[in-house]
Amino acid sequence: MPRAEMSGHRRALRRLRRIMAGSGSPQERLDRLVKVIAEEMAAEVCSVYVMRAGEVLELFATEGLNPDAVHKTRLRVGEGLVGTVAATARPLNLPDAQSHPQFSYRPETGEEIYHSLLGVPILRGGRVRGVVVIQNQALRVYDDEEIEALDIIAVVMAELIAREELISPEERTTAQGNAILPTRLTGVKINGGLAVGEAVLHMTRVGVQQMFSDDPDEEHVRLANALSSMHSELDQMLEMHELSDVGEHRDVIATYRQFAEDRGWVRRIREAIDGGLTAEAAVQKVQEDNRARMSQISDPYLRERLHDLEDLANRLVQHLSGTTIGGSDDQLPDRVVLLARNMGPAELLDYQPGRLQGLLLEEGSPTSHVAIVARALNIPVIGMVEGLLSRIDSLDPVVVDGDNAQIFVRPGEDILQMAASNIELQERRREAYAAMRGEPAISRDGVRIILNVNAGLLMDLNGLDESGADGIGLYRTEIPFMVRAEFPDVETQTELYRNVLAQAGDRPVMFRTLDIGGDKQLPYFRDVLEENPAMGWRAIRVGLDRPGMLRRQLRALIRASEGRKLSVMFPMVAEVAEFISAKKILDMEIARARARDAKLPTELKVGVMLEVPGLMWQLDALLPIIDFLSVGSNDLFQFMFATDRGNPRVADRYDVLSPGLLSLLRSLVRRCEDAEVSLSLCGEMAGRPLEAMALIGMGFRNISMPPATIGAVKSMVRSLLVASLRDYLETLYDLPDHSLREKLRSFSRDHGVNIVDT
Ligand code: PEP
Ligand code: MG
Repeated sequence: MPRAEMSGHRRALRRLRRIMAGSGSPQERLDRLVKVIAEEMAAEVCSVYVMRAGEVLELFATEGLNPDAVHKTRLRVGEGLVGTVAATARPLNLPDAQSHPQFSYRPETGEEIYHSLLGVPILRGGRVRGVVVIQNQALRVYDDEEIEALDIIAVVMAELIAREELISPEERTTAQGNAILPTRLTGVKINGGLAVGEAVLHMTRVGVQQMFSDDPDEEHVRLANALSSMHSELDQMLEMHELSDVGEHRDVIATYRQFAEDRGWVRRIREAIDGGLTAEAAVQKVQEDNRARMSQISDPYLRERLHDLEDLANRLVQHLSGTTIGGSDDQLPDRVVLLARNMGPAELLDYQPGRLQGLLLEEGSPTSHVAIVARALNIPVIGMVEGLLSRIDSLDPVVVDGDNAQIFVRPGEDILQMAASNIELQERRREAYAAMRGEPAISRDGVRIILNVNAGLLMDLNGLDESGADGIGLYRTEIPFMVRAEFPDVETQTELYRNVLAQAGDRPVMFRTLDIGGDKQLPYFRDVLEENPAMGWRAIRVGLDRPGMLRRQLRALIRASEGRKLSVMFPMVAEVAEFISAKKILDMEIARARARDAKLPTELKVGVMLEVPGLMWQLDALLPIIDFLSVGSNDLFQFMFATDRGNPRVADRYDVLSPGLLSLLRSLVRRCEDAEVSLSLCGEMAGRPLEAMALIGMGFRNISMPPATIGAVKSMVRSLLVASLRDYLETLYDLPDHSLREKLRSFSRDHGVNIVDT
């Protein structure tokens, strides 16, 4: 920004500051502000619209428009140009506003003589609080400096509105149109579980006291100091004992540390300082801009990166203002349910684990870094909650039902009591399962069932001992890849797999080769945009098209398993030829290791995942050449019923306990028994006791599930008579029913089988 403009900005900000600190009612000060802004911006009109209850923007002050329109002209979000600015959270710069399709003429304002318009959103705490507009008669385009100047002025406006002097506290508590009545919101389950707590809006916790400065040089020095102390804090975090124990999370933080050095980000903060803001106000401004951008960006990778920067912005403001947030803040309620549009991964770790009960995100995807960290902390997380930030207020009591992706806001006594007793029950069950840890999973009629866990994070492996599982039935190798900043090389992968095997001890581990693509994107490997990613370039397809990548992974697995058994399976195999090609690559790697006199695994078992229904018709060719087969029921179900597993709209449309899926599984069991091929199932259904019961009735003797569900499934097994269930099931396969769920539930009730929903 040229120096003359910079000093112009600062002069304007000085004047605004004087008004802000001056006498008069908030309305009087706002009236003075619009006058000064119009003058400083050489505009004929300056108007401020403030967001009121019901998502309505009300004209609160104007210089230039008809003063009678003040408090009369109102626009809904999305209505007219002002409403468009609010809806998109982006500036609008129009030489001829009236020709814009969104223009909505309001005769009471007398604005017909003004042509050009620049509108900028007033943002704070992730919400649009209003819109500031300048207008001129001439047809002109406002330049970048003017947009920047009005943007900074919007920061001042946000301050004034945030002090809640313009709108009564009563209206504020009805938070943009919600009565203080109980409300239920829904989203998408990111992590299950039940929690009760008080809402804490993540973003509002950092307050900027001093907005403006006349001494940019001093602010630059403050910024540099704060950046360097933040960097050392992040380094310390990396060294922290707890984090070094959980490898993947450490990688998340390390990646995030790199963002802290993002040049563009720091440059934009410096520019805002040059515009007349203090360092903390400048950070906050850039943060607000980031948030506004986030709502516009659809690329999930870029969105995640912006969230990471936002997280850093908060941290940086704390360093500048000397305040701390998170776990050390005693002003937090004892039981925190955290609310955010989205979050960076390290922020969660700022909160004392005991205090943090749940996490709600307006955006947030199951594969985001923050979701991975939250899962490791074992708190319920719900994402994609529409209107979350505008419908819950700080300190509202909240019940988070992660399993059903429901949020009860300001719940009645009945719901609170129900939640409390469910939490107590959960706790009691957990204790009972822990006590059962050493007992084998044997049915009442003596059938031994192997219960394995699905793992991906090192944290999941802790569950092995706690739950007393038999082994790891599915190790999703892509998970550690997803939380890294770059593709791990052979050494890193070897180390990782060694670590998994060490934690597993004597227990077997089934390594699945990379299942990337679909909803599991690697940040550093994204050269495809697909319409149907679940049916696109993923899993073994990527492995076969990029054999070097697959080879390196297999090499690392072979190295990590020297002196012990290795089991490898390939995901999403759709035809036998794919398995044969993948197996050849594995054979090449074994030959390579042998040629180098490397120590080989003592035993090698190679299998496939049955996830694509088409493979069912190649079993004759497949079964003789594999050692084991594992059903990936999550994908198998989605492809069999053509129902997207990530789409909540169709999530309940079909049931895994349908005669169709069960018949398929039943014939698979028979075929594998005949061919003497070991069979297991490792989709989510294995972790649900009623479904697991059905699997065992069909003949499955080995199932793999999320670690937290082992206890409930084992308890089911130990109360089951397998023979009578098998006979009963034989009568059901050919029924035309949508689901056999109720019939199976009745069976469990009549036969005293312990079924607890997980
Ligand atoms: C499955 O599809 O059932 C499975 C276990 O694999 P993932 O859930 O990782 O796709
Ligand atoms: Mg799968």
